[in-house]
Amino acid sequence: MTKFSMDSFRLDGKVALITGGIYGIGFGIAQALHEAGATIVYNSINEESVAQGAENYKAAGIDAKGYVFDVTDEQAVNAAVKQIEEEVGTIDILVNNAGIIKRIPMLDMSVEDFRQVIDIDLNGPFIMSKAVLPGMIEKGHGKIINICSMMSELGRETVSAYAAAKGGLKMLTKNICSEFGEHNIQCNGIGPGYIATPQTAPLREEGHPFNDFIIAKTPAARWGTVEDLQGSAVFLASEASDFVNGHILYVDGGILAYI
Ligand code: NDP
Repeated sequence: MTKFSMDSFRLDGKVALITGGIYGIGFGIAQALHEAGATIVYNSINEESVAQGAENYKAAGIDAKGYVFDVTDEQAVNAAVKQIEEEVGTIDILVNNAGIIKRIPMLDMSVEDFRQVIDIDLNGPFIMSKAVLPGMIEKGHGKIINICSMMSELGRETVSAYAAAKGGLKMLTKNICSEFGEHNIQCNGIGPGYIATPQTAPLREEGHPFNDFIIAKTPAARWGTVEDLQGSAVFLASEASDFVNGHILYVDGGILAYI
């Protein structure tokens, strides 16, 4: 039997693209992949956000390259992926992190709002994956990590579009696994529980009923942190997970088991 080596978690020489990796979960995952040896590439929809990303990475001592493009714009995505391949290298690891949530009761939600969430949270990962897969097939390996959610499994009042998108993202994960597994490409998801990021800042205010609900329902009795997700991201990006495919790893402090 081969002796196990921690090197199987290393990502030296790999290029990782983290969509929306400016701050929050994406930035935390980027930091972990960098620590494991990967070269980091990130994007956002406008110059200001990418400039903010540049500052954040510089402050963290990470030499990362930022690109401006919208994950819902297929032409822009294809052009950016081509540019990244030329300037940095073929993308070995794609983290589909960019996402939005709109908390609106279903009967008040417009079709436009519903469509926008589906477009960014579900169509975006489809477009991104489609763009990087040919390079991965040619290279003979690749890792796609889709940032899913507990809402890939559950529904709640006010998150109809988000739950539909993240549930769809779970199934897209399984489909990519089935369709591209023979090329040594693994597609898995991370399903964060409630994580303290700018996106959830309004819910974490002292006395907010949702804040109390989360603490009460999470067996870990706290909000998750970006750091809580980092080890799982490195595992799913590394060859240590080469026989793990089509799964969602819920990193949720146990809430899905209990709720
Ligand atoms: P943030 O809002 O902090 O970050 C999301 C990032 O996505 C931002 O950098 C944003 O850029 C970018 N983005 C949004 N739309 C687009 C687009 N069309 N093209 C490119 N980039 C875009 O979110 P979190 O860090 O909290 O969440 C990251 C992911 O994790 C999301 O997919 C979210 O659904 C998921 N998640 C989060 C949980 C949580 O508790 N925080 C729980 C479960 C899942 P900009 O700021 O410029 O708009």
